[in-house]
Amino acid sequence: MSLPDVDADVLVAGGGAAGLTAATRLALDGRSVTVISSATPATALSTGRMLLDPEQLEAVEWASFFLAQFRRQGAYYVMSKRPVNALTNFGTAMKQSLTSPLFDWTTRDRDVAVVGLVGNGDLDPDLVSREIGRSHRVRPRPYWFSPSFSPELDRDRFAEELGSVLMNDVAESTIVLPPLPQRSPYDLLAELRKRSGKRIVEAATPLSWPGRRFQALMEGTAARLGVTVLKDRRLMSLDIDGREAAGALLSSGGRTQKARFNALVLATGGVPSGGLDVEGRNVIDPLRLFKTSSAPSPGVASHRLRSALSTGIATRKGKAVTLQGGSLRNVVVAGSLAKGMSYPLGRGLGDVVVHAWKAALAVEEVL
Ligand SMILES: Cc1cc2nc3c(=O)[nH]c(=O)nc-3n(C[C@H](O)[C@H](O)[C@H](O)COP(=O)(O)OP(=O)(O)OC[C@H]3O[C@@H](n4cnc5c(N)ncnc54)[C@H](O)[C@@H]3O)c2cc1C
Repeated sequence: MSLPDVDADVLVAGGGAAGLTAATRLALDGRSVTVISSATPATALSTGRMLLDPEQLEAVEWASFFLAQFRRQGAYYVMSKRPVNALTNFGTAMKQSLTSPLFDWTTRDRDVAVVGLVGNGDLDPDLVSREIGRSHRVRPRPYWFSPSFSPELDRDRFAEELGSVLMNDVAESTIVLPPLPQRSPYDLLAELRKRSGKRIVEAATPLSWPGRRFQALMEGTAARLGVTVLKDRRLMSLDIDGREAAGALLSSGGRTQKARFNALVLATGGVPSGGLDVEGRNVIDPLRLFKTSSAPSPGVASHRLRSALSTGIATRKGKAVTLQGGSLRNVVVAGSLAKGMSYPLGRGLGDVVVHAWKAALAVEEVL
């Protein structure tokens, strides 16, 4: 059985930070864009915290456009000129450029309580307090709170109860909380601050709400610009006509779908996202069309793991290089699928979005 054909100026394969950045920028230029994505992106698994270079024009362009769009969706981020410290759910510090009233932990904080919510496994106050005590010379107090109301099901009573506990039972002036299971927890946090009179900070937590929240904001931005996002669609094969890709075959479960486009952005991520495959000792392009190569990267002892994490699709002027050594004029690679871009041996979110922002320009040249 087949699904109706997809027709777009640009088909973007991969709906993580890279694909959505490229798609949004192309839609801003008036292009019709369809994004397809087959599974959970690394973007949704990340902490959603990123480092951006404020001296880099494209980073500033990306931030000024996307952060305004995020604000329209109720999320308040600003780009800091200098990286600032975030606190992770291991109690360690990480650098970030995007800050928010949710994140404004500083290592100057001295009077700290770490509050865990029973039933929320994202943050263990004993672990975090111990680690902060070791690395920041602060002795935070761990505190467990067992909520009677779910923040998802009864937000108001949750805020009332937690707000009063923080005000009456927790003496410290700065409170670290796990991410609250909310798409847009800014209002809830503001309310907790008002009720408790304390400074409340969300820990940076992978595999949890912050990454999903960032992913949802990226998807929301693309949708507002008129991008069609099709989930559960896999790019299976490409029709190659001379030096360009003329169309693609997609699949969704047992169904297939044909796509026609003038340009294709490959933003399918590295090995962890399924954009690349491991076959024996080699990292390969699952479409078996493109050449892969590794970037030099120290820090991981295992040769195989290093190779898996530092390999990407080889490119020439941003275009994917085929196994025969030529490049396809209308196939542009974006984000962590490119050589040297795959986290943790390559780059994180900041470099990924900048790479994709520039990739959209390479697509414009083709159209
Ligand atoms: C656990 C974890 C924590 C991280 N934490 C941070 C952090 O705190 N800060 C930071 O800067 N970076 C972090 N990173 C790295 C960061 O998340 C990635 O560098 C970034 O999200 C990559 O974005 P991307 O768009 O290139 O790929 P992805 O976000 O992985 O998107 C690729 C998408 O393409 C889809 N896809 C794959 N093959 C196909 C196909 N054939 N057809 C259609 N779709 C396909 C995938 O399913 C996926 O949805 C973390 C990564 C992980 C895994």
